[in-house]
Amino acid sequence: MTSPRVGVLGLQGDFQEHLATFRALGVEAVDVRRPDQLADVDALVIPGGESTTIGKLAERYGLIPAICDRARAGMPVWGTCAGAIFMAKDVPGHPHPILGLMDLSVERNAFGRQVDSFEADVQVLGMDGGPFHAVFIRAPRMSALGKGVEVLASLDDGSVVAAREGNLLATSFHPELTGDRRFHALFLSLGSQH
Ligand code: GLN
Repeated sequence: MTSPRVGVLGLQGDFQEHLATFRALGVEAVDVRRPDQLADVDALVIPGGESTTIGKLAERYGLIPAICDRARAGMPVWGTCAGAIFMAKDVPGHPHPILGLMDLSVERNAFGRQVDSFEADVQVLGMDGGPFHAVFIRAPRMSALGKGVEVLASLDDGSVVAAREGNLLATSFHPELTGDRRFHALFLSLGSQH
């Protein structure tokens, strides 16, 4: 991607923060709400928010097959928090529409009510410049990673909180909320590798 145009799924959640972060990096970023808008973007971010709502709206608007087709053809797709839930192949106890793209299981609200929100500095594989300050809000945890899935970051207790499978990226936390743009830059680099 020399001059990529990034789409951010704008159905629900904190899509504005992702748009602002890409724009701060000098990258064109647009809100995507309809399947036909996918034809105009080179990559897609699915933001944090509420995964049940995002799934139901995406299904209603016919976005699920459209996103899956593009992702299987190599388009980079990154889900943050609720977006990561939406991307997973398996979400236990979640009878709602998901993309089912990434070969992993994602447990919703995995860190318990007592720590609905917390922050942690995590080491990210392949990221220069020191640990990434990660904000977790009723965050999910990834497990049962398939063979093609690489762990990018985990917590001290071993919980996997960032993973990559080829052109697909998932984070349990919210890089769009901290002003550190390195994760957004890392995502953009996936486009040049596929
Ligand atoms: N707990 C939310 C869900 O299950 C995700 C929270 C978030 O995106 N910050 O959808």
